[in-house]
Amino acid sequence: MATLPGVSGRGPAGEATASGVTSMASTGTSSEDPRKFALRVRGVTKVYRTDSLEVLALRGVDLDMLVSELIVLVGPSGSGKSTLLNILGGLDQPTAGQVLFGDLDLASCGEAALTRYRRDHVGFVFQFYNLIPSLTAEENVALVTEISRDPMDPGEALSLVGLEERRNHFPAQLSGGEQQRVAIARAIAKRPAILLCDEPTGALDSRTGVRVLEAIERVNKVLGTTTALITHNAGIADMADRVLSFADGRIAEVRENTRKRPAKEIAW
Ligand code: ADP
Repeated sequence: MATLPGVSGRGPAGEATASGVTSMASTGTSSEDPRKFALRVRGVTKVYRTDSLEVLALRGVDLDMLVSELIVLVGPSGSGKSTLLNILGGLDQPTAGQVLFGDLDLASCGEAALTRYRRDHVGFVFQFYNLIPSLTAEENVALVTEISRDPMDPGEALSLVGLEERRNHFPAQLSGGEQQRVAIARAIAKRPAILLCDEPTGALDSRTGVRVLEAIERVNKVLGTTTALITHNAGIADMADRVLSFADGRIAEVRENTRKRPAKEIAW
């Protein structure tokens, strides 16, 4: 996996120390926690300003994401989930607060550092797959590996998501779920430290959606990629190490799953 600045090795996943639900605005782990941090979010607020309107999209978010942790974000539409995901991915910067990736503060660094962070350390998966129709699955993945520092072979990335036999197929020859798995292979082929998924199964039925979740679960386990996934589907939360429930720009509730449900058992 990629080496994080100021962070070495892989923290064991799923070593939940508490069970059940806690209601709190902060999800910081204790300072004695031996596990390593992938990202540390402190007092993050985000205000969107237009000519006549101010929208307070995030109102003070604190979060420690542990290396190799799988976090699911749930909550009503407009509660700030995508805003936080975009900030974690360096696509946007907060109005106030800190977002630490090792020693780099994504909240205050310049555009060039933010671009390097995105290129070297972050994989994105969105609801729509954004594959290039005239390229095969393998060529779509190779677009990323050609510009990466320590990429895996595109075939290896496709194999991780169970599509090695479809490497020469064009997107139009693949189902929606298969196209999304190619998009996951493309996102993880650069061995990112962080994988961010915004409604990755939003356009899929339960059966194909589960295959996509299995691919995310496998990448998280095999590569130790710290993963944050937004979903409207409460059932998907059961595969997470931690579930963050958003309300009105805040993390209103945190649940640790002491027993994670395998993706293949999830249905909706
Ligand atoms: P969620 O992902 O939970 O649906 P969002 O993070 O997309 O919520 O949005 C949080 C709030 O911020 C909403 O009120 C939304 O309308 C607003 N918002 C999001 N992006 C923008 C933007 N680019 N400009 C103005 N307001 C925005």
